[in-house]
Order: sequence, then C-alpha cells, then structure tokens
Amino acid sequence: MKAVVFEKFGEAPTIQTVPDPKPAADGVVIKVEATGLCRSDWHGWMGHDDDISLPHVPGHELAGVVVAAGKRVTNWKAGDRVTVPFVGGCGHCFECTSGNHQVCEHQFQPGFTAWGSFAEYVAIDFADTNLVRLPEEMEFATAASLGCRFVTSFRAIVDQGRVRPGEWVAVHGCGGVGLSAIMIASAMGANVVAIDLTDEKLEFARKIGAVATVNASTTPNVVKAVKQITNGGAHMSMDALGHPTTCFNSISNLRRRGRHVQVGLMLGDHARAAVPMSKVIAFELEILGSHGMQAFRYQAMMEMIRTGKLKPELLVGRKIGLDEAPAALMAMGGFEGIGIGVVTKFQ
Ligand SMILES: [Zn+2]
Ligand SMILES: [Zn+2]
Repeated sequence: MKAVVFEKFGEAPTIQTVPDPKPAADGVVIKVEATGLCRSDWHGWMGHDDDISLPHVPGHELAGVVVAAGKRVTNWKAGDRVTVPFVGGCGHCFECTSGNHQVCEHQFQPGFTAWGSFAEYVAIDFADTNLVRLPEEMEFATAASLGCRFVTSFRAIVDQGRVRPGEWVAVHGCGGVGLSAIMIASAMGANVVAIDLTDEKLEFARKIGAVATVNASTTPNVVKAVKQITNGGAHMSMDALGHPTTCFNSISNLRRRGRHVQVGLMLGDHARAAVPMSKVIAFELEILGSHGMQAFRYQAMMEMIRTGKLKPELLVGRKIGLDEAPAALMAMGGFEGIGIGVVTKFQ
C-alpha cells in the first residue's frame, strides 16, 4: 500500500510503498476513505510524543470501510462503514471497565502507538470496544473530522465542562478544537465568547454560534474584556489552543466556582504553564483536562448531528490527496487556516 512515512523526527516524510497491514486477533483492517490533518500529527513528527517508534506512519482522524477482521472480533465484518475515537480503550483495564476508555491504561492510538491512517489501509486493535458505525448519510470526510478535535470538544463541553443552558462559555483559540467547542456549547444553550488573533476566524465563530468575540491581538486585556462581556466572568472556559497565555487567560476569566478545561496540547517548551493558583483556591475553580471520548458516547453526539443541532460538515476545510499530506503535515506547526483539512484521495 501507499503510505506517508517518516524515518527521522523533523525530517520530511515521503510517500512510500509498504506492506499491507494484517488485523490483530481482536482488531480490524480499515480501507481509509478520509483522514484528518491535525496539529498532534505535527507534534508526533517533531518527536514530542514518546509513544512513537521509527519508521512511522502518522494519522489518527480516520473513517473508512472494514476490509478484514481478526478471529476474536464479533461485532464487525468486511463492508462496515466505520470511524474510531483517536484513543482506543483496551476494554479490560480498570479505566475501561469503569467506562473511561479515553484514559485507558493500555490505550491504542493509531498514528502514535501504531502506524496510522495517512495510508491506504490502517490496522485498528480492540475493534469491538472502539469502532463506531457511521450513519448512511454521513460523508467519510465529515466522519474523519469527528475522531479527535470534535469528540474531544464534545467531552470537554458536555461531560467535563458540564455546560448548562444560559451559562457563559469562553473559548480561547478558534482552530479545529475551538470552532467545534463553540458549535457544541451553543447547541447546548450556552452563550459563547470566542477569542482569537484574527478577525477572519472570529467572524466564522459568529456564524457557527458565538454571540460575542474578542480579538486578542488588538485587545490590551483579554481577561477584562471577557469579564465585561460575561457580566463577571465565564462559568466555563476552554483553552483550545494550548499555549501558556491562553491557558492563563482561560483560568483567569472565570467567575467564582467556574470550570476551566484544557484541551489544546501543552508539549515541549509549553509543558509547564503558569497557573493563577491563588485564584483557583479563592474562587474554588475547577481545572480539568479532556482527552478524546469513549466510543459509546458517540451515540449522543451522532443524534445531535442527525437532527441538525450539530453540523460538523461546516468545519471541514480543504480536501487534499495523500501525495500532498507530507507538506501539509509539516506546515501544521504554523498558522492554521479555517476548518479541518482532510485527505480524501489516496491514489
Ligand atoms: Zn487530532
Ligand atoms: Zn483499558
């Protein structure tokens, strides 16, 4: 099969012909029909992820068709249209049996713990626990855009952030994660303030549900601006970018008893960000993480998509071929365009 391969961290990946994958006893092989481009792939390529061993095929936001299933797989067969969350739970450890597959102790992550989906085929372990059937009407590109940023935002807003109708939600950063969070929070009935550095992204944020925006490049004090708009501070706030400044602002713009959810990755130089801890104590703030979402929680999200309350297809950006993926991956460390880029051509 054709795949995007890198042999050294930070060196340009190339398109190579490599052996087709075979399914593990509890796994499947999926013919990839669409795979999203994500900043996590860039982090992996830069060597920021200890799970990766070389040579490596990146790609973790995928949708496609099952072509082969291992002998212990009971729920899936060739021809099934599927997607997976980017964290696959083993189904057996304490976290999985308590319903928290997203933090499984033996997690399978395509494109990190194993070769990923920037390829014609990808092998996925623990298939019975993690595969999600696609509704007939859902396009592969839309399905691929769910697996990482959209589901992580769904969990961050609904399960971790516990957003209620009428609350104020601040979303710092309007990339794929931030825009997903804005759409989901406003569908839950919250009032959303979007914060970003560009008017173009803020304008798009308004189109998908934000009721107010703050341009952080022209606003001297972002925290003060959010507090003014929200009449005292957000009930829930998210750092969707993953930067010491946005993390600090997101915690600082909360009202008393507010919840901060960190979704944007903090790796490399940013791994230890400053936190206004005195305020965390005085205001009884909650600081939470959000790391993917369990496959069984997709059902609630899929119903909101089916009924038109959530429209993830609006967040799909440009569609490219696999041969364009190496350059696109290397560019993910810099400025992100609007929406989620997806590879949809593999020949
Ligand atoms: Zn991702
Ligand atoms: Zn597990």
